[in-house]
Amino acid sequence: MSDISRMDCADLLARIVPADDAGARFPVTNPSTGAHIADVADMGPTEAQGAIERARAALPEWAAKTARERAAILRKWHDLILAHQDALAALLTREQGKPLAEATGEIVYGASFVEWFAEEGKRAYGDIIPTNAPGRRLLVLRQPIGVVGAITPWNFPVGMVTRKVAPALAAGCTIVLKPAEDTPLCALALAELARDAGIPEGVLEVVTAARAEPIARVLTESPVVRKLSFTGSTRVGKLLMAQCAGTVKKLSLELGGNAPFIVFDDADIDAAVTGAIQSKFRNAGQTCVCANRLFVQTGIAEKFASRFAAAVKTLPVGDGMATSTAIGPLINAGAAAKVDGLVRDAVDKGARCVLGGGAHELGGNFYAPTILSGIEPGMTIADAEIFGPVAPIQTFESEADAIARANDTPYGLAAYFWTRDLARAWRVAEQLEYGMIGLNEGFISSEAAPFGGVKESGIGREGSKYGLDEFLELKYFTMGGLAA
Ligand code: ADP
Repeated sequence: MSDISRMDCADLLARIVPADDAGARFPVTNPSTGAHIADVADMGPTEAQGAIERARAALPEWAAKTARERAAILRKWHDLILAHQDALAALLTREQGKPLAEATGEIVYGASFVEWFAEEGKRAYGDIIPTNAPGRRLLVLRQPIGVVGAITPWNFPVGMVTRKVAPALAAGCTIVLKPAEDTPLCALALAELARDAGIPEGVLEVVTAARAEPIARVLTESPVVRKLSFTGSTRVGKLLMAQCAGTVKKLSLELGGNAPFIVFDDADIDAAVTGAIQSKFRNAGQTCVCANRLFVQTGIAEKFASRFAAAVKTLPVGDGMATSTAIGPLINAGAAAKVDGLVRDAVDKGARCVLGGGAHELGGNFYAPTILSGIEPGMTIADAEIFGPVAPIQTFESEADAIARANDTPYGLAAYFWTRDLARAWRVAEQLEYGMIGLNEGFISSEAAPFGGVKESGIGREGSKYGLDEFLELKYFTMGGLAA
């Protein structure tokens, strides 16, 4: 291992953005302060094509390694990520804005996928099928799909990268990654640590660009790229799905959510309030599994709203680098304007502001933690993915009503509900049309569990034993002429 184990955030930054680099660049700024952090390479189709070629050239040797050899290298990458968790977390907070403690949590979470898939890659077992004729044997091999393209969002600049790169590499694939334009620095830092861990040239290529669309076209139209893994909005996911049709690419899509958070009148209200804060206000509400619609049973609605508001009021808003901060800024001015538009529309149509309801006094990209009650159909916020620190509360009368309204959306990523009734827990969990369900839990993601959605929230699963399958093809192999 090189001197890299002593790098702090400034050293890491100097390594990933060399001062003498010529060519087009684009700026990365701190969403808390607006300060310029660095300029990174603004790549275009030619560079994307070059990255694909290098990934293609690196594929045979990487795929031919044993799973154990790949695991050893991935394990080193995992160790280097953890050794640099402070430097990476500081970089993450600077480019993305989330509080430092959350950023550190994301580094540990991100590293956990590398460790998990380093192990899981060793278990890509095939099958031997009982034969259908004498003299024949039927086998199934599981082989790496080939060169992978990945496009990741800005809300988890480390976690979303390792969740795709680690299983791809563990399976024996090589990968070309285009990180989000708001947060390319963490991806570059991870790639730098990957090099130090011994991941060979071409196995992980990072293409940074101010404009995603031309890069995505090259990735989706290339016949060399056999799989595309995307996390982002449903709108862009649909575009990419259409673009992949031309080469019939295998696809994984982790798209938008519209998570219901249902509190039944038999719930532990204080636990539900804690869960709602975790689910709603983590990352300032900028996660695809954030509670997006709170449904509270009529009998406890007032009690829940007042305890929720009292707890949210105490959450300090500010620059994520300050240790006291619980809620950071939104990613950019456009995001803050979008969230404010949703709140304005709801209030104009009769919603009541229980807390907040506008820009935070810090200004810039900061938005005041907001709780709205009296949400009715017809308000845009009743159906939109909010992606901000705004909790809209609706009330419901019956279990059937809650389930019907929770399912009345094209999305199906995460859903949460709170009850102490065991029979109800099973009934509701089985009827919610979602890929992930939390009962009496506001935080459900883990490297060991399958993350993913149904309906327009996506295709495929990340993490867990299922996550490796996304990067493997089944090959049926018949052996004949074996009769004595
Ligand atoms: P979000 O709302 O989280 O920003 P996006 O879907 O816009 O979600 O962005 C997620 C990722 O998709 C980012 O890496 C972004 O650069 C990329 N992206 C945005 N627009 C396009 C597009 N038209 N084609 C391909 N990728 C895109």
